[in-house]
Amino acid sequence: MEGDCRRRGRRQEAGIAARDDGGQVNPPQTSALALNLVTTRSTWGLAQAIEGCARHDIRGIAPWRDQVRAIGLKNASAAIRSHQLAVTGLCSGGRFPARTARLRKAAIQDNLRAIDEAAELSAGCLIIVVGGLPEGSSDIAGARAQVMDGLAEVLPHARAAGVRLALEPLHPMQVSIACMNTLEQALDLCDALDPGVSGALGVAVDVYHVWWDPKLKQQIVRAGKGRLHAFHISDWLVPTQDLFDDRGMMGDGVIDVRRIRGYMDAAGYAGMHEVELFSTRWARHDPDKLLKIIKRRHRRFC
Ligand code: ZN
Repeated sequence: MEGDCRRRGRRQEAGIAARDDGGQVNPPQTSALALNLVTTRSTWGLAQAIEGCARHDIRGIAPWRDQVRAIGLKNASAAIRSHQLAVTGLCSGGRFPARTARLRKAAIQDNLRAIDEAAELSAGCLIIVVGGLPEGSSDIAGARAQVMDGLAEVLPHARAAGVRLALEPLHPMQVSIACMNTLEQALDLCDALDPGVSGALGVAVDVYHVWWDPKLKQQIVRAGKGRLHAFHISDWLVPTQDLFDDRGMMGDGVIDVRRIRGYMDAAGYAGMHEVELFSTRWARHDPDKLLKIIKRRHRRFC
């Protein structure tokens, strides 16, 4: 499979030089590469992933809360610090909409805990997957209103803890977990709840979810440095085989990752490029080999 990926990668590389402004986006610094630990979750626990990334000189990680819980928050924090890794983001908070007031209250409580965890890990942000339609509901406007209410409730705690919340719009195929589906929607929420651009509320730009959006460049410009909290990269395979677990390696699909990275750079984003591969195919790879491939593909396509 790897050879096959490489061949397809090379083919796409030939088409990646053209920029829509006529200019050129230079290859990225390897030091900007970070790994979302969903990528290696079936082979590495958090402690192994921390050591593995350090060994491969990948300087940033984004762990998931269950991975942190598995070794304990204090242990996780100490291990990350001792390897001098940046935590680009903690995954994840959100999931605000629910059928009952009791469940909505529980979601708020969970978000407050997630904010505290992100603070302990000195995470660059807490990724917010806002939540989707509650079971049995078709009221997407109602779900969106509940997202707004939930965010308004937890934002003061995030501000007090010094934790940035990063709203991540997801492709609408994932409506079970996200009723916020475009960067424009996410930024409208930011503007409503944090009009002064305090830094406490911003967005995560995940190319997998937003690459198709005709307003992508415009909305990245709109977000600007003050609201661009995270940048997630992978590729969209055609045809997609699974709604959650078939993301491609950069260079194997139809997303011009480098072009989008150029938009981010131009808008003032100075954070890391986080590879996030929800992929049953890549999850089967030996993680040490996988990290080497990721480093090459980041250099060539991001
Ligand atoms: Zn993401």
